Amino acid sequence: MDIVLASSNEGKLRELSALLRDLSLAVSPQSKFGVDDAVESGVTFVENALIKARHACIATGLPAIADDSGISVPALNGNPGVRSARYAGEGATDTENTALLLNRMASLPTPERDACFICVMVYLRNATDPLPLITTGVWRGRVLEAPSGEGGFGYDPVFFVPEFECSAADLDRPAKNKVSHRGQAVRALIGALKQEFATSS
Ligand code: IMP
Repeated sequence: MDIVLASSNEGKLRELSALLRDLSLAVSPQSKFGVDDAVESGVTFVENALIKARHACIATGLPAIADDSGISVPALNGNPGVRSARYAGEGATDTENTALLLNRMASLPTPERDACFICVMVYLRNATDPLPLITTGVWRGRVLEAPSGEGGFGYDPVFFVPEFECSAADLDRPAKNKVSHRGQAVRALIGALKQEFATSS
């Protein structure tokens, strides 16, 4: 069965495609169907993931998988949160968003630099599905004082990963997927989808 992946973010598409390869379903990015980006007007990661998935379902008539994710800093009242991709304004680059985060945290000592990446994944069977599959992942770490590392995307260069003692941008993709918020949420979704298709066939 064809499933549409409701994301246009290249970094996330690369990670999600690698993670979803486990699943013997044909998952294709929404760009293949000419679907544009949904307006993320929700206040929570769950709402935004549902908005994106519903938008893709309506446009294609297919079931959709979507994620919404971001970085949350308790010392900044949970910000950037759902605004992570546009923290420095609509259309801001990763470098601009990261620079603003470092700037807002400039006076914070290490104990106040805790942060977590959050990911919510949803599977929507159709646009009016009343009970979507929803899974979550949380990856705890700390915001560094300056970027480090060449890999990853988004806030990876400023996210210190305690279990590896390096930044998320220093991890290769398999290592990041093993521990990341997205890895956790995708593995949970794959488990739920396996059950879904086992019981519906
Ligand atoms: P959205 O889920 O497309 O609304 O945007 C999520 C934003 O959160 C991305 O554009 C990144 O700025 C940030 N983000 C989410 N996951 C990661 C990650 O794994 N590494 C670095 N930044 C991330």
